[in-house]
Amino acid sequence: MTYDRALPRAERLRMPWARDVALEVAKQHGVCIRPVALKRLDTTTGQSEIIDVPCGATMEAVCPPCAKRNRQLRMAQCREGWHLDQEPAITPDEPNDEQRWLVEFRADMQARRDAAEQDGDDTTDLDAVLASLDDEINAAGMRGHVLGRTTAKRTRSTRRRQDAPDLPRRKMVNTTLGRTFTGSDGKVYRPSLFVTLTLPSYGKVRDSVPVDPDSYDYARAARDALHFSKLVDRFVQNLRRVAGYDVQYFAAVEPQKRLAPHLHMAIRGTLPRAEIKQIAAATYHQVWWPPVNQVVFDGERLPVWEQEAGYLDPDTGEVLPTWDEALDQLDADEEAEPLHVIRFGDQVDVKGVLSGTPDADQCIRYLSKYLTKSLGESLDGGQAQREHAARFVDALRFEPCSPTCANWLRYGIQPKGAKAGMTPGRCRSKAHKPEHLGYAGRRVLVSRKWSNKTLAEHKQDRRTWVLEALGQTNQPTDPHRYVWRPVPAGDANVPPLAVRLLRTVAERQRWRAHMAQLEAQAQGQDLSANPRAA
Ligand SMILES: [Zn+2]
Ligand SMILES: [Zn+2]
Repeated sequence: MTYDRALPRAERLRMPWARDVALEVAKQHGVCIRPVALKRLDTTTGQSEIIDVPCGATMEAVCPPCAKRNRQLRMAQCREGWHLDQEPAITPDEPNDEQRWLVEFRADMQARRDAAEQDGDDTTDLDAVLASLDDEINAAGMRGHVLGRTTAKRTRSTRRRQDAPDLPRRKMVNTTLGRTFTGSDGKVYRPSLFVTLTLPSYGKVRDSVPVDPDSYDYARAARDALHFSKLVDRFVQNLRRVAGYDVQYFAAVEPQKRLAPHLHMAIRGTLPRAEIKQIAAATYHQVWWPPVNQVVFDGERLPVWEQEAGYLDPDTGEVLPTWDEALDQLDADEEAEPLHVIRFGDQVDVKGVLSGTPDADQCIRYLSKYLTKSLGESLDGGQAQREHAARFVDALRFEPCSPTCANWLRYGIQPKGAKAGMTPGRCRSKAHKPEHLGYAGRRVLVSRKWSNKTLAEHKQDRRTWVLEALGQTNQPTDPHRYVWRPVPAGDANVPPLAVRLLRTVAERQRWRAHMAQLEAQAQGQDLSANPRAA
């Protein structure tokens, strides 16, 4: 039936919107449904072209097809590294287009931010964009910070250095591979571990919500979530010391229903279960930040910003201590206690896994189960859980999430890198947002010598494979050939979304048909080269 305005209204209404159909078709083909249009200027030819970049390759929210593809890449990455039997070789690779684009885009945003600052405009939004771009740059498989280390690293007094806890130590062997065992039949076994680490109890819960919300330790739960990634780092340090080799891991941070982050970790190689439990029990992290037990400024009475001077006490006009001054004071104070000490809870689950078994596959699926969702989103509880989540977010509101957090003003300290327009309780960092539940770190933590490849390289693998199959080599392009620019919303040169989606679907179909054809040809050749194989 064709669409005709003369048709009865009821019948017309039964017809799906063309745009919705385009979306459905795109999803079926695994095509990004929220592509980001970018202008690519070719500096060699002088021509510019608008190109759709999948949302999964930028810092935009990730659409379901991109999320699914990212999850599959993560699973491939996890599988490839877990039972590796050869030492990975580490050489930095040529950056790819996505990485280049991110760095160039960051340069643009930095220029805009600096211009805004010169004009005396609020740079909060642009700073947030830069921070998230920095995360993306690392997530895209690039190490370090674009600007390098911008400030000298603070040397803390040795008194505050955290000692390695009392644990057995093996002599270090220079390998990333685990031990193997040979069975009586000569078969070689390569066992690995799957470990789950959990935070302590903050009060009794029933059906994942506190039995008594008033006595539930929300403040502690909030701090634990904020500093969880540091605790994981400590665990890995301790694990390597005890194991005596350069242990590699692939881990995913997941939310528990009670809203605490926990960690699933695939570890290459094996250790006795009791030792893993011993390491988890001995691992702790101290947060040496200034104390926050006294609210100094609150409500309408907040520090005032003065250009050049920084934040001042609204009554006395005195300049508040800067972040560095506050830390110096903390260092000088013999009686000072860490702001927070975080440890794991008693629940430590350790499971031995053999390579290539259904067990290993199941663990890999489990590890990537929630990766397509943010921490808060993965929870679908009812009213009681929503209330629990609201109290948790409330507890996070005035908790400083980082040295640059605006909340430091509440406790009479200028945040690191203080600037105009900071208000306690209005920090824009991810950590305070309900969908992140205090954990602003990365969801997937992969050690450097895991599969020998970054996610971007796993992506590149697929691309290279396809290009080779098509008889085209993946020629490296001049890194400075293309300049990428964001396209403003509503640009007349960008066709409607449905048109762009269907275009990508058509491209993908052509590609698939071509691949199928090549495959058929290759099979034909194999048969003629080796007729007996038929
Ligand atoms: Zn997408
Ligand atoms: Zn904050």
